[in-house]
Amino acid sequence: MNIEDPCVQTAQTVLRQLPSMDKLLLDDRVAFFATELNRPTLKDACTGVLGVWREKILSGEITRFDEDLFYAEITGKLRRLTTPSLRPVLNCTGVVVHTNLGRSCLAEEAVDAAAAAGMGYSTLEYDLDKGERGQRNAHVESLLCRLTGAEAAVVVNNNAAAVLLVLAALAANKDAVVSRGELVEIGGSFRIPDIMRFAGTRLVETGCTNRTHLRDYENAITDETVMLLKVHPSNFRVVGFVTSPEREELAKLAHRRGLLLVEDLGSGILVPDEDLALEGETTVTECLRGGVDLVTFSGDKILGGPQVGAIVGKKELIDKLRRYPLLRALRCGKMTLAALEATLRMYLRGDWKKIPTLEMITASEDALHARAERFAGKIASLCAAHHLSARAIPCEDAVGGGAYPERPLSGWAVALGGTEGFNPSALQAALRACSTPVVAPVKDGELLLHMRTVRAFEEDRLAESLSEALERIS
Ligand SMILES: *Cc1c(COP(=O)(O)O)cnc(C)c1O
Repeated sequence: MNIEDPCVQTAQTVLRQLPSMDKLLLDDRVAFFATELNRPTLKDACTGVLGVWREKILSGEITRFDEDLFYAEITGKLRRLTTPSLRPVLNCTGVVVHTNLGRSCLAEEAVDAAAAAGMGYSTLEYDLDKGERGQRNAHVESLLCRLTGAEAAVVVNNNAAAVLLVLAALAANKDAVVSRGELVEIGGSFRIPDIMRFAGTRLVETGCTNRTHLRDYENAITDETVMLLKVHPSNFRVVGFVTSPEREELAKLAHRRGLLLVEDLGSGILVPDEDLALEGETTVTECLRGGVDLVTFSGDKILGGPQVGAIVGKKELIDKLRRYPLLRALRCGKMTLAALEATLRMYLRGDWKKIPTLEMITASEDALHARAERFAGKIASLCAAHHLSARAIPCEDAVGGGAYPERPLSGWAVALGGTEGFNPSALQAALRACSTPVVAPVKDGELLLHMRTVRAFEEDRLAESLSEALERIS
């Protein structure tokens, strides 16, 4: 190295100004994180930033040691390391079963049950009467049967797993007939043809996208067919010139030919349709009464419980699933089962309207209007201080989760807007960066806070986040 070179000399001088590791670790700005991070992690983060700075100094990109900048980089890195990744957000989208935001919010007693199961030992696989090994599925099976009228039930990790298990256990190396109108993709990752391939079931398509007749199913049946599979077109509707056979007709056909009729229902609705006002949606009980042998559905969609896939129906078939080794790989954990049992008990008591998902879906327009007016009033002076207006406006909400796609729910939102220079996207981004992040849509130059998906107890926190965000962008 040529030490006469003035550049190199400058670089060496700047390098010497970088603090040593010992000095760094003793600095208050770094030591602050010592309660959250162990020493190796703290050191590792510092080493990383020191390394980057050394390189930039040697390459000439940094020619002066700026202490504030250096420590800002280190503390920024340490803050990212200590911020939890999976954390609560406020959902102001009006989409109740929002898959990206975690679908259903659990009822308090479901949360308590999950916490109790998680904290200590439990009867997960222990029969207290006999004092010997029990079944983890037993905690929810009789409840599911009572609530749906099924003979037997089993639960797995999610509905995709439920469909996979049914196909693998009952239709491997065989044919299953599916209408071309029901070869659905859900959430970008659940596709009926793929699941069938993984299960080793041959897909026999029948009918057309818009119309499939009973005779189409009949003509598709061969000696290799074991199952007719009906799939709920959860996230779309084909309207216009559309036909599909009645469930009862399909069941008759299947049973006359010695086949199974299986239905992937998607959302598990356990209460009568009229009560929910989700006109046209089928309940699990209606499916079973229609002659379906096995019905699969999600626990965290309209049911309002934890993420599970439930399979209910004929005992003889459920027993086969119970004995099928794949079940072991798809089973639910104890906290999930505890939360599901508690949720199902709310249905059993007739308390289902207290389940947050169902409470939000059934919230009346008048009640939402009153909440929007109240919240607009609550934040009026805060908004005025930032030259914004807050007013209650009608909006369109949705059930979400691939349920009830074509029928929006009438809701109310608080719209933030007003002044000329207002940039709703900047407020939207600032809300996402809050300590309690807020997810809210922008529409027609205004930021909308849909009230349906904000729980009453979250309103104070929403106002706090709004204040934090407005402060940040002002
Ligand atoms: C949502 C849905 C699924 C996937 O369920 P998960 O619980 O997300 O695995 C499968 N089929 C239908 C019809 C659905 O609506």
